[in-house]
Amino acid sequence: MTGTWDAWLDTRARVRERRGLTRTAGPAPGAPQPSAAPIDLASNDYLGLARHPRVREAAARAAVDHGVGAGASRVVTGTHPLHVELEREVAALAGASIALVFSSGYTANLGVLGAIGGPRSAVVLDEHAHASLRDGAALSGAEVHEAPHGHLPALGEQLTRLRAADPGRRLAVVVESVYSVLGDAADLRALGDLCAEHDALLVVDEAHSLGTVPEGSCAAAAGLWRAEHPGGGTTAPVILTATLSKALGAQGGVALFGGDPTRAAAWRSHVLNTARAFLFDTALALPTAAAAAEACRLAATGEPAARLTRRRALAEQTLLRRSGLAPHVEIGAGAVHAVRMPSPQAAVAAAAALAEDGVHVACFRPPSVPDGVARLRLSVHADHGEQRLRGALEQIASRAEAAWGAATGPGAC
Ligand code: PMP
Repeated sequence: MTGTWDAWLDTRARVRERRGLTRTAGPAPGAPQPSAAPIDLASNDYLGLARHPRVREAAARAAVDHGVGAGASRVVTGTHPLHVELEREVAALAGASIALVFSSGYTANLGVLGAIGGPRSAVVLDEHAHASLRDGAALSGAEVHEAPHGHLPALGEQLTRLRAADPGRRLAVVVESVYSVLGDAADLRALGDLCAEHDALLVVDEAHSLGTVPEGSCAAAAGLWRAEHPGGGTTAPVILTATLSKALGAQGGVALFGGDPTRAAAWRSHVLNTARAFLFDTALALPTAAAAAEACRLAATGEPAARLTRRRALAEQTLLRRSGLAPHVEIGAGAVHAVRMPSPQAAVAAAAALAEDGVHVACFRPPSVPDGVARLRLSVHADHGEQRLRGALEQIASRAEAAWGAATGPGAC
């Protein structure tokens, strides 16, 4: 007789399988053909820094000189000069004044959201906010609300209602600068104004933008920390979070604080002293901290971001030129473009077939995206060779066109 847990496990696996939602965590599938060098359009190594010689060397040197593990939490004995150096470099890259490094982007979001939660806090999340922001909000003890994706008038109404219901409560708005799957960008300047108007804190997750824009971060590009607010009024407090594992090619996470130095220092101290995901987590491994700091220095030159911009334009032109595919192409504001697929199963099959040709793309299905959504996600990297990139995009376009050609009926999502 099977027990209740076995029966439950079996049912869950069969439901996942039927919906095309089963995942594995093995190495990327597919053996590249000898004729085509593999191309990585799946990972988040947007600037091609994960294997950059200077980044590798920095990690290796730190391992030899200092060892690997930090050995303890940052507030016990885990803080090493390499963490301090990384915080200086990442703040400089982002246009922030100070930073607090976490062991991942996920824990940075848990930590920051946890630090602003508690009684009389209300957090309004964009409905497409990343799982780590949602989890952080859920654990924070704040009242949690959701705003329609990117809809500022609806967000404004929500803030007005929340403020009227309790004038003394603390409000926070939580968004991403560039959304991870759909690739669209938030209007940070308008969000900064809205938050200032409603006395709300603005939390921006820059996971997909840190290092990919000439100003280093979208918040800096939008002037969120400028002393003189473009609207002439007060500025909203702003906290950025980001991962060091995407454009910076390493690992780790960060909370960034800017604007008035006293206010920035007060916020950093508050997060350091209250974020459980900071206090009770072992500090970032030392080779990783050294690698991330070196990646920040490379990214801060602006050269990798400029190359990424040129590759993105190439991808955009190549995908949109195919008239059969153009209606299904979503051009992103950052490094990511997406191709809508008729179903999760079609997306999985296309990604597997492309992998066999050496073209690695990401396949997005629920729960990474809302129900009914299936996408091939292409992240263009600064170090992609132009000719190989063009060829790979043509292969993707052909597979996607074939999938749409084979799709029937209104079930296509
Ligand atoms: N926020 C966003 C928007 C992300 O896409 C990710 C990574 N998928 C994270 C946070 C988490 O970052 P990390 O992988 O460093 O934990």
